[in-house]
Amino acid sequence: MDLAFTPEEQKFREDIRAWVAQNLPKDISHKVHNALELTRDDMQGWAKILGKKGWLGYGWPKEFGGPGWTAVQKHLFEEECAMAGAPRIIPFGPVMVAPVIMAYGNKEQQERLLPGIASGEVWWSQGYSEPGSGSDLASLRTKAERKGDKYILNGQKTWTTLGQYGDWMFNLVRTSNEGKPQTGISFIVLDMKTPGVTVRPIKLLDGSFEVNDVFFDNVEVPVENLIGEENKGWTYAKHLLSHERTNIADVNRAKRELERLKRIAKTEGVYDDLRFRDEIAKLEVDVVALEMLVLRVLSAEKSGKNPLDIAGLLKIKGSEIQQRYTELMMLAGGAFSLPLVREAMHAGWQGDFPGGNPALAPLASTFFNYRKTTIYGGSNEVQRNIVAQTVLG
Ligand SMILES: Cc1cc2nc3c(=O)[nH]c(=O)nc-3n(C[C@H](O)[C@H](O)[C@H](O)COP(=O)(O)OP(=O)(O)OC[C@H]3O[C@@H](n4cnc5c(N)ncnc54)[C@H](O)[C@@H]3O)c2cc1C
Repeated sequence: MDLAFTPEEQKFREDIRAWVAQNLPKDISHKVHNALELTRDDMQGWAKILGKKGWLGYGWPKEFGGPGWTAVQKHLFEEECAMAGAPRIIPFGPVMVAPVIMAYGNKEQQERLLPGIASGEVWWSQGYSEPGSGSDLASLRTKAERKGDKYILNGQKTWTTLGQYGDWMFNLVRTSNEGKPQTGISFIVLDMKTPGVTVRPIKLLDGSFEVNDVFFDNVEVPVENLIGEENKGWTYAKHLLSHERTNIADVNRAKRELERLKRIAKTEGVYDDLRFRDEIAKLEVDVVALEMLVLRVLSAEKSGKNPLDIAGLLKIKGSEIQQRYTELMMLAGGAFSLPLVREAMHAGWQGDFPGGNPALAPLASTFFNYRKTTIYGGSNEVQRNIVAQTVLG
């Protein structure tokens, strides 16, 4: 197993670094480095810059307009973007639904839907979960009834991340009640401006509005928006979830936030406390271990071996690390971590704390917000069950 990068890969990294330094707007990277709230324009603005360069779909094969990078190149690109303070690419379009459309959509759907995803113009949302159908996703009840050349959708999706900005939405819907629950599910995409779609924001623990309930009330969707075959949606859904879980591990962001943790600890004086430094060291060991795990997957792919089936493991470790660094940042900031100043952030405040450490300001909200990481994309308890079955046997 060779975990080192070749000279060509190092050169690739340098080219990416130079391009990102030139093209990432400074106000956006300032927000990312200080965990300040990103607006829709910040997130989409960066997506469009990448889209213009042909890199928003950086994981896409050439035949669909992607750069056709190797797994290692993709990893280096992600790392350079994260370390430079680029916003995470909102995954629902380019990382999640696009691979499904490429693998199972027909030519007309590929030509109609992929360009808007690649350019960053069209914002996608994910409609999997429903009240009562999260871990037990196959029990979902949102119904799509075929009437002529349309499906009529009725039901409710929930926890739809950033659905308030959504243009299009991909959904798992029930098209049959025959047989096992998994066999009656279809994968349907829809324009969120269609009459009968209502988006209702849910206020989170940190005061933010990041997730939504989405209601479908006799929503008419053309049959052309069924991806693949009717009642085969479960297969497509699983294809997509493996992309989601690898993406959630986000080792590169963990490396950047580890550096931020050290900065905060130094400014606040707790870096001199051996016990606190121990905690940072333990976290660093876990981050390095996660990176080694990612590199092992890349190395296996490079040498043509089957990629290790460890998406669930990456998700578990990555999400726990994310929660740990927000906890340690809160501890390092002490009482200064407490103020929750979301209203000020909405009004354009940039984290400048008179007489204090600007890096401390939004720690409380980030801490609260990150409780989600061990739940979304499939809870960690459920991932442990999957790892036990598929990896440990
Ligand atoms: C911030 C956030 C954003 C999200 N974004 C989206 C989105 O954009 N689109 C979307 O479709 N969904 C989204 N989700 C939903 C997410 O996928 C679900 O919350 C998740 O799958 C868990 O389902 P649930 O909330 O129904 O919890 P439940 O399934 O009710 O689980 C409750 C508890 O029971 C445990 N549990 C359940 N089954 C088992 C089992 N078999 N063994 C052991 N423990 C078990 C769980 O681990 C959990 O602790 C989001 C969730 C959050 C929190």
